[in-house]
Amino acid sequence: MLNVDSIPKAEIHLHLEGAAPPDLVAALAAKKGVDLKGLVQNGRYVWRGFSEFLAAYDAAAAVFTTPEDYEALTRSILEGLAAQNTLYAEFFVSPDHAEATGVSWAEYLGAVVRAIEATEKTHGITARLIPLCVRGYGPENAKRVAELVAKTAHPYVTGFGMAGDERMHHPRDFAPAFDLAREAGLKLTAHAGEFGGPESVAVAVEHLKLARVGHGVRASEDPALVRRLAEEGITLEVCPISNVVLEVYPNLAAHPFKKLRDAGVKVTISTDDPPFFGTTLTRDYREAAETFGLSAEDLRGITRTALEAAFCDEPTRARLIKRLDEAPLAS
Ligand SMILES: [Zn+2]
Repeated sequence: MLNVDSIPKAEIHLHLEGAAPPDLVAALAAKKGVDLKGLVQNGRYVWRGFSEFLAAYDAAAAVFTTPEDYEALTRSILEGLAAQNTLYAEFFVSPDHAEATGVSWAEYLGAVVRAIEATEKTHGITARLIPLCVRGYGPENAKRVAELVAKTAHPYVTGFGMAGDERMHHPRDFAPAFDLAREAGLKLTAHAGEFGGPESVAVAVEHLKLARVGHGVRASEDPALVRRLAEEGITLEVCPISNVVLEVYPNLAAHPFKKLRDAGVKVTISTDDPPFFGTTLTRDYREAAETFGLSAEDLRGITRTALEAAFCDEPTRARLIKRLDEAPLAS
């Protein structure tokens, strides 16, 4: 029986607010007199269908309204990940969403960084940040976010990305925002090939010059694109259980993780919005191992792939890979 708990892990596709523990959200809502209308029941988020998921996500995110709230949020997520033997995590953060709750980007960043520094000391977990623009807010706003992020130049802000509705706008419209982020030294990723087909991955990689793709799994439907991803060494941030819960695939057995991996594409395992999807990083690793026939060595290899594709500086990467190599093999 595979001991997945002891396998060192890395999480490279995780939305900060999407990882909010339900108990923390319930406690903050109670303190602030916010009615969550049954969103949290028995320590879980309750929702059905994609539009309810989006509403649930927004309702949970809306209880975080001060820098202290974001610091507590970040700390609780990192402690939870450290308890799962996670060496490294990257958070997607959204300046647009923070501003909507009345916290400036500078205050938000300061709070999240304080929590990262504290948990690195207490729990030995390393974390970095990838600010996202929201595709539906349009190219002009994306450029504004990229400028804001580039100006910050914080050593923990190491990437830039895009999430949101894949049907809105064309990736080429966002090239100026991504060019600006690249020139500021940020590494690039964007959500594509989750609800959009393989062409959504091809055009995003082409126009935004991505090092990684968020999800990207529907690239599996186009053999030429699969070959190209493998040849160019583009890493996919695969979130297997998220894809099943959001009905991109009917079940894990139908998920193309193994097909992509066997074709030489760099695939990793992350969780996206874990408490909303009833998952944890350990559960995603475990179910992937059981469904796709992965050994402990394979899982460690997947962690290595994630660390090799991590948006961190080289000394940090070398230190993390050394920790992975030195971790005892699972019994
Ligand atoms: Zn995502």
